[in-house]
Amino acid sequence: MISVTEALEKLFLIAKVTPVETVELKKCLGRVLAKPLESTRSNPPFPSSAMDGYAIHKANLKSGAEFKVIGESAAGHSYPKKINKNEAVRIFTGSQVPDGANLVLMQEDVEADKKFIIVKENFDKKSNIRLEGSDFSKGYKVKTPLILGVKEISLLAAMNFAHLSVRKKPTVAIISTGDELVFPGETPKPDQIIASNAYGIAALCKECGAEPRILPIAQDNLKSIEYIIGLAQDADLIITIGGASVGKYDLINEATNNFGVDKSFHKVAMRPGKPLMAGKINETALVGLPGNPVSALVCGYVFIRPLIQAMLGLEKKSAPRLMAPCSTSLPKNGPREHYMRAVLLPNGYLEPVENQDSARLALLCDADALLIRAAHAKALQAKTLCEYIKI
Ligand code: AMP
Ligand code: MG
Repeated sequence: MISVTEALEKLFLIAKVTPVETVELKKCLGRVLAKPLESTRSNPPFPSSAMDGYAIHKANLKSGAEFKVIGESAAGHSYPKKINKNEAVRIFTGSQVPDGANLVLMQEDVEADKKFIIVKENFDKKSNIRLEGSDFSKGYKVKTPLILGVKEISLLAAMNFAHLSVRKKPTVAIISTGDELVFPGETPKPDQIIASNAYGIAALCKECGAEPRILPIAQDNLKSIEYIIGLAQDADLIITIGGASVGKYDLINEATNNFGVDKSFHKVAMRPGKPLMAGKINETALVGLPGNPVSALVCGYVFIRPLIQAMLGLEKKSAPRLMAPCSTSLPKNGPREHYMRAVLLPNGYLEPVENQDSARLALLCDADALLIRAAHAKALQAKTLCEYIKI
């Protein structure tokens, strides 16, 4: 059995980065920018007013000073001429500051009639001007890889990019195995259950930026499993669920051997998730997840998410680990890294849920974290800081 860290390293070796495609900016949320960009414009593209008020030159500025109002600069309608030192232009937020002006008096700081303004006492002496390029200037570099969230899309839109070069979404074929399984919405026989993992893992893949496809359920025989894997070979990643252990009907290992899968590893020193398996068929990565719903999802958070991120050209790194004090004491840990379902309490403590059964999805839903106990960790006192992954 290899460690979680070793297994992840081996997974990164079979992660092939997807090619680049051009996508409309408005469809880029969650995508990964693949080619660095340089802004071809500055923002603001001209000195612009940060206030509603009057643009003037500050040479003659003092309380009681009088300025002649000679025109207006509104957003999209700049004042076209240069102003003199005793002149003012009515100006609004975001409008271009006219030539000759170097300060915008707030409208609250003047007495105004149509033709003149008089500066009040205790007026604000700030310039209230946003300089050309003060947000970003021409040549501003956008580095890659970059996950395009709301902020990044706003910035690239401001730079006038309408299309972006992004990584193709890795396609993921998800195969459930088991005679006991039917899909949600079907009518299970009394001894059947719902193939919930396929949906959970598909959702996780989608959340990470991949394009999942749920394949028909493979029955517990080699012919059926090999047939369904055969349907999936055009995918960037195949994920099988279940049949990965050592029971009579756990046939994934044999089926993938028959299929010529080049194995990277089988079995990882973790709890839950021990039967995890991975390998490669030609250019397609293959991961065999355990069938127990919590085990499958824990492996999803610990392995599938970083794997998909690597396929998107992002940094090859494990799920970020945060720290919080554990609310209770914990016994020493065995030889496998333990991912304990835990609740983040309002006081900042992590409380492991009482029952850590890897088949209990409802308990997983109550949890917000996987508290990590290292292999062979010593017994832990309450209030000791622990590492955890947010889920
Ligand atoms: P297995 O590894 O195939 O022995 O599966 C372990 C447990 O997980 C069994 O109780 C299965 O019924 C269950 N299981 C397997 N695949 C799925 C799935 N896709 N969705 C929900 N439960 C599953
Ligand atoms: Mg099974």
